[in-house]
Amino acid sequence: MNDKDKLSVLYSREEIASAIKSLAQEIKREYKDKKPILISILKGSFMFMADLVRELDFPLEVEFVRFSSYGREKKSSGEIKVIQGITFDVENRHVLIVDDIVDSGLTCNFLKKLLTDKKAASVKVCALSIKPSQHTMPVNIDYSGLVIPDKFVVGYGLDFNQKYRNLPDICILE
Ligand code: 5GP
Ligand code: MG
Repeated sequence: MNDKDKLSVLYSREEIASAIKSLAQEIKREYKDKKPILISILKGSFMFMADLVRELDFPLEVEFVRFSSYGREKKSSGEIKVIQGITFDVENRHVLIVDDIVDSGLTCNFLKKLLTDKKAASVKVCALSIKPSQHTMPVNIDYSGLVIPDKFVVGYGLDFNQKYRNLPDICILE
């Protein structure tokens, strides 16, 4: 931890856990008989993915893609770097994108298009959190838990320059 960074808790681990339980109930209703592929966007959503799938008691598969758009800044570069793309088959499969936070909407829409082009049977989005003030394009989030104000947050998988991913709470970085 860096003494110079000021952190304040926005959502506690308990609030996060309860949001995930509600999301899991909704997801189960839709997917319990569909053997979906849940696709986590790394690195930010690794913790959310791990906690979400443990709340889902039906057959599913997990896959990962890795994108980067932030570099070392607090603002998105607006350009998506594909570090690991779709290396698995999605044709005729029901897929659910699992993301940590939807900010501009760029990342989500980009992955949705890739999956649609690869002929997935259906593509939906589950975001632990959304930052509505920052959406720069129409973005359809099917399941979302927490609303984030127009601030930069870290913790629960989210970083600043690769730091703070291990915090159990979602915190505002001043
Ligand atoms: P997008 O602008 O494409 O919707 O957001 C892309 C990604 O930027 C998110 O999935 C997340 O990993 C990262 N991001 C967006 N807002 C924040 C934030 O407040 N804090 C951190 N650490 N990452 C963010
Ligand atoms: Mg992300």
